[in-house]
Amino acid sequence: MKHYQVAIIGTGPAGLTAAIYASRALLTTVIFEGMQPGGQLTITTEVENYPGFPNGIKGPELMELFRQQAQKFGTVTLFETVKAVDFSQHPFKLVTDANEEYSADAVIIATGASARRLHAKGEDIYWGFGISACATCDGFFYKNQKVYVIGGGDSAMEEALYLTHFASTVTIIHRRDEFRASKIMVQRAKENPKIDFLLNTVVEEFLGEEKRGIKKLTHIRVRNLITNEEGILPADGVFYAIGHTPNTEIFKPFIETDANGYILTKGKSSYTNIPGVFACGDCQDPTYRQAITAAGSGCIAAIDAERWLSEHYSKLK
Ligand SMILES: Cc1cc2nc3c(=O)[nH]c(=O)nc-3n(C[C@H](O)[C@H](O)[C@H](O)COP(=O)(O)OP(=O)(O)OC[C@H]3O[C@@H](n4cnc5c(N)ncnc54)[C@H](O)[C@@H]3O)c2cc1C
Repeated sequence: MKHYQVAIIGTGPAGLTAAIYASRALLTTVIFEGMQPGGQLTITTEVENYPGFPNGIKGPELMELFRQQAQKFGTVTLFETVKAVDFSQHPFKLVTDANEEYSADAVIIATGASARRLHAKGEDIYWGFGISACATCDGFFYKNQKVYVIGGGDSAMEEALYLTHFASTVTIIHRRDEFRASKIMVQRAKENPKIDFLLNTVVEEFLGEEKRGIKKLTHIRVRNLITNEEGILPADGVFYAIGHTPNTEIFKPFIETDANGYILTKGKSSYTNIPGVFACGDCQDPTYRQAITAAGSGCIAAIDAERWLSEHYSKLK
């Protein structure tokens, strides 16, 4: 069984930043790429808010630079998905989908989160080309355009209000006529002249066009759940606000999470309930969910792991 001082699970901004710091601290470091090497940014085109790139950078390109930087300091990158962990013994054990076993003195969980999908027709085609799950990331691209927000919770109201800074109109589509969102948030949305509502309604299909090889959402097909009436509406952008699922299932026997599955970390640190296991990025952050905050928390996790190892290593050996 191969042994490393630090095993990092996930190669998004959080995991790869942790890898840069851990390997630069001269810890033997392995990182598991999982089912989405490079993480969520690999499914977006332009990233305009990551500092250091005044002209923007393509998501996949940014993540390749992260990876190269980690490898430069000695991080071993493995295209394997961790399918099981055993945090009840030390060194910790990890088993991958290649049926390989690894042991590690410290583990950093950076498995991210996935936006929930509707699985409507055309969604896969226009995801990232008019459909987004992050107004902070993509709102700027929709100046003076017609956008929709799907959802009925606080985050739907927040996303809609945020989008009014850019879009000409924002329509909130919700499958019911009552909202999970707090009254104050609904009221704020209702009072905003740019926001309107399409209630008891679902999106059945995303429609668009392809020009010179570039896909673009142009319309949505909606259905009223009471009348069953359908309509096709012009749409420049659609923002999902129906929640995210943190990729934390395999850790649950050992690691404490909140009710939604987000890993609980202690205070401003990356410490989990298991000493020697740390968490960073979107898998422990239901609030900010940005590349820069994920990277920042990856740095925190590596520093926490390094300090924890230097404090405990001699006792553990
Ligand atoms: C379409 C889109 C556009 C975005 N645009 C921006 C933007 O412009 N600016 C911005 O700041 N943010 C943007 N974001 C948000 C940003 O991508 C995330 O906040 C950030 O990627 C989170 O980083 P992370 O490292 O925590 O996790 P992720 O990027 O989600 O990476 C998780 C990693 O964990 C791996 N993994 C999961 N489970 C396992 C397992 N069992 N074994 C091994 N590996 C595993 C995955 O393969 C992946 O490599 C965007 C998100 C999306 C979806």
